[in-house]
Amino acid sequence: MAKISVIGTGYVGLVTGVCFSDLGNEVWCVEIDPQKVDMLKKGKPHFYEPGLEELITRNAAAGRLQFTLDYAKAVPDSDFIFICVGTPMSDCGAAELKYVRTAAEGIGEHLEGYTIIVNKSTVPIGTGDLVTEILSGHTDPANFAVVSNPEFLREGSAVTDVFSPDRIILGAVDQAAAQKVADLHAPLGAPIIITDLRTAEMIKYASNAFLATRISFINEMAHICERLGADVREVARGMGMDKRIGPHFLNAGVGYGGSCFPKDVRALAYMAEEQDCHPQLLEAVMEINTDARLRFVARLVEMIGDLQGKTIGVLGLSFKPNTDDMRDAPSLDILTRAHELGATIKAYDPQAMARAEEIMPWVTYCATPYDAAKEADALLVVTEWNEFKQLDMKHVHELMRKPVLLDGRLVYEPADMRRLGFQYYGVGRP
Ligand code: NAD
Repeated sequence: MAKISVIGTGYVGLVTGVCFSDLGNEVWCVEIDPQKVDMLKKGKPHFYEPGLEELITRNAAAGRLQFTLDYAKAVPDSDFIFICVGTPMSDCGAAELKYVRTAAEGIGEHLEGYTIIVNKSTVPIGTGDLVTEILSGHTDPANFAVVSNPEFLREGSAVTDVFSPDRIILGAVDQAAAQKVADLHAPLGAPIIITDLRTAEMIKYASNAFLATRISFINEMAHICERLGADVREVARGMGMDKRIGPHFLNAGVGYGGSCFPKDVRALAYMAEEQDCHPQLLEAVMEINTDARLRFVARLVEMIGDLQGKTIGVLGLSFKPNTDDMRDAPSLDILTRAHELGATIKAYDPQAMARAEEIMPWVTYCATPYDAAKEADALLVVTEWNEFKQLDMKHVHELMRKPVLLDGRLVYEPADMRRLGFQYYGVGRP
């Protein structure tokens, strides 16, 4: 069994650390935020992710999982150190590398003996070389190897994804080091591709850009379907049965969000521009995504008129179901726009309201979906949490001031909603 350090306890770092400890390794999670470390030491994750808390409790109790603010406790005599810090979008659109740099410095200062540094953060192509350069400033390059190992987990199913990945991508100059990281992952039984550093880094960006492209593609189809009287959900179903196309990421709606797709597509476009490539497809993907959010508000105005003095109920705030992550959630643009146009907003989300309140204090947060619907002039579905599929929509109809329902995630059947008396709009449906 290996000694593993994980730098950063966000969605990627914490789940990675927990997974490796569950496989029997000794894992140290290093975090700079004392509040997060305090919570983790009490067995509480600082974000919502299904199944995570039980795993933390079990592995911490077994003495295999530790949390610390101190690199000196974790880094020396680690066999592997995973860098899992954030790489948010900077003002120019590039990925911000300051957290990666600080993590690499912190590791370099405490390295003892041969260690493999694994970069799991999504980083611009060439960052593996940057980490190598930083570490070389502290120690002899013979004492370490840098391996790129991009992460593909999805928030909301992160634990399952980390235990059962579709594939493991590894990139390195030192192929023997990459093989050691492959051996560490062997218990997961996933196919492993070993390639060079830059190719591994690029695989992550290309994957996210492709998934975002599928979403923007179907959203463009949705717009066209609405005008031509076709139903985009049936179109996507019909397309998805074609094995060459497949059914995934063809859900029309108010667009993608979250901590990955928006920043990664933007960062890839930035890197392309820097190299004098013209990333016209990526630009279109981003433009369509912004339009999907704004068009939803435009449709709201079309349906109920001037928003001044109107009350809008909202179901769902997180960027997707089963997470409390609000980073670049479509709800932010949609609610802000409606608020700017004079609407009073009442919202309900099963997990994300505390985080949403920090960003949108002007929203009234409701205890139930029914409270959000009460006295509303329109109800918007922005995130497709399962519990919204089970609502008593007859009761929702009774509670509302005007029964106008805008379904941004195609949760409801149009015919059912119309039968109940709703004026129903579903993105891309006739
Ligand atoms: P996050 O922001 O949730 O977590 C990062 C954590 O690192 C924070 O807790 C922060 O306090 C900590 N940190 C920052 N600097 C540190 C330092 N020097 N030392 C120790 N801790 C430090 O980020 P995330 O969502 O887990 O994403 C991490 C990386 O993985 C990003 O590059 C992201 O693009 C990528 N990624 C994320 C997902 C996802 O679904 N969230 C999926 C795949 C890949």
